Amino acid sequence: MSDAANHPTPRQTQSYLRNLFHSNRLHPKNRLGQNFLIDLNLIDFIVNAAELTRADLVLEIGSGTGGLTTRLAEHAGAVLSVEIDPSFFALATEAVRGFSNVRLLQGDVLKNKNQLNPDVLTALEATREQYRPQRVKLIANLPYAVATPVISNLLIAGIAVERMIVMVQWEIAQKLIAKPGTKDYGALAILMQSLADVEVLRKLPPSVFWPRPKVDSAIVKIVPNAQKRSLIPDVQRFRIFLRDLYAHRRKNLRGALVGMTSEGKAQSERKAFVDAMLGKLGYTGTERAETLSIEKHGALCEAMGSLADQLDL
Ligand code: SAM
Repeated sequence: MSDAANHPTPRQTQSYLRNLFHSNRLHPKNRLGQNFLIDLNLIDFIVNAAELTRADLVLEIGSGTGGLTTRLAEHAGAVLSVEIDPSFFALATEAVRGFSNVRLLQGDVLKNKNQLNPDVLTALEATREQYRPQRVKLIANLPYAVATPVISNLLIAGIAVERMIVMVQWEIAQKLIAKPGTKDYGALAILMQSLADVEVLRKLPPSVFWPRPKVDSAIVKIVPNAQKRSLIPDVQRFRIFLRDLYAHRRKNLRGALVGMTSEGKAQSERKAFVDAMLGKLGYTGTERAETLSIEKHGALCEAMGSLADQLDL
């Protein structure tokens, strides 16, 4: 457990950060989403929303200066925090010096857009072995460039995460919670809401960060839902199906599905296959995918797969 009482955590205010960066000759990098949380009430809000206990292991992506990391460590059993930037890794290492329940990892959280870095998964497993937590929670002020892949890869990988409390751009939050028929409804909303319950807890103005980003942000709560997941037999296949289905938003359902079927077959055969499937599901084919409910996308993906098998497409 932590012996943090001997090391009071510095308050991450704007003037604290300015001084820290000045004395370390550091300049926040926009491309790494280095916008630090300076609203101390919000840090409390996040810690409360996380409902942390000593039985929790927190995964944090983007340690930054360690300001949120130390607050999480005060409440959780253990924290594993990942930071890509060596200079900030060094600052965070200094900040968590008094905490024996924090493990920092320097590296990129992602291997690529569709995969988490295996080193992160190995470290998560090792930390889990060491602390034997009852729950794992992702709590993070996510760097904007990797927010969506971090959330979706964690969810798809089926890593047992009890909840995610994450700060993301407002625009991304809208895409996560979008409902059918709206402009933000697409592959991301459908994938997320097929696997989890998603809720925006709070809208955040740029002024809660330093340096200020150009856009609003949101605190989002994502709770993986096992019952929903059980309705999607092959999550990877569903992800690819959604990606392809929404690659051409303007097409109607028939056009989009024909475009997705095996290119090795004649056009007429592909159309016949899609028409057979749409008929079976009761669609005319003139509908647009973005008007269909979340559940109907799951059924469509399964029907595409099983008919393709039957017809050897
Ligand atoms: N947790 C701190 C806070 O709330 O003030 C910092 C959050 S800041 C929005 C995001 C942090 O993520 C930065 O320190 C940045 O260097 C780091 N970061 C950016 N891309 C990353 C990546 N691919 N993997 C790991 N860390 C990354």
